Amino acid sequence: MIIEANPNNNPNKLHRIIVKHPAINVGKVKTVYEVGGEADKVMIEYHDKVTAFDGKKTSEPSEKGKVCCLISALLFEYLEKQGIRTHYIDCPSLNTMLCKKLTIVPVEVIVRNIAAGSIVKNTTMKEGTIISPELVEYFLKDDSLGDPLLTHDRLRLMGINPEPMYHIAKDINLHLQQMFTLMGIDLVDFKLEFGYDAHGDLFLGDELSPDSMRLWKKGTQESMDKDLFREGGGYIVEAYKNILQELRRFAI
Ligand code: 5GP
Repeated sequence: MIIEANPNNNPNKLHRIIVKHPAINVGKVKTVYEVGGEADKVMIEYHDKVTAFDGKKTSEPSEKGKVCCLISALLFEYLEKQGIRTHYIDCPSLNTMLCKKLTIVPVEVIVRNIAAGSIVKNTTMKEGTIISPELVEYFLKDDSLGDPLLTHDRLRLMGINPEPMYHIAKDINLHLQQMFTLMGIDLVDFKLEFGYDAHGDLFLGDELSPDSMRLWKKGTQESMDKDLFREGGGYIVEAYKNILQELRRFAI
């Protein structure tokens, strides 16, 4: 498949023609493709799809893929400027992202600033409790097992050293919190995935969008993220578009 490059409305970016090979990973809302002639890169296509509860609830809202791709691109670019290494290279079209190829660590790293979601369900904490300093947790990335919570010792037994991911996750939280505060948004929690490139260097991978974070209107518990879909089947694209619009002002 050939993609005519759209340089994300940035006249400084080169137009490219990218030849996608067959999919190497078909996820619930994204597909990862090899890139012709560039073994160290992948192309990630964001689909107009949202899922929750391990795929039991799904919807296909128009423009959702494009909006999540553009938000992720802005956040990756912002974090790169703060010195965080991410897999992001470019957006050759509005819903595709050219990225560095990584061997993904099979762990979801969750950072929490305010109690919500699974920590409320699985502990005695009340929703809305401030968590300071932030909590960094690790979950096995395996839907079939229900993404169980991991301990540091279990990670070590799996041959995974959590330390580098821990420090980068805290750094990312600092930068994202600063930016979302300026936007009048509380960054409640978010999920990160990391991977190693061919040289053994660690990079932030996957996506960073309201699909993988909880965002509340400042000082309220009003969701502007995937909880709108999880909890009510609400129309998420308008909420996500508002975040994209604000990020264009603040993620600089
Ligand atoms: P919780 O542990 O409360 O379910 O999730 C904490 C945060 O991580 C939330 O912002 C949630 O959206 C995100 N998160 C957890 N697991 C996943 C996942 O499998 N996919 C995505 N996209 N986000 C996740």
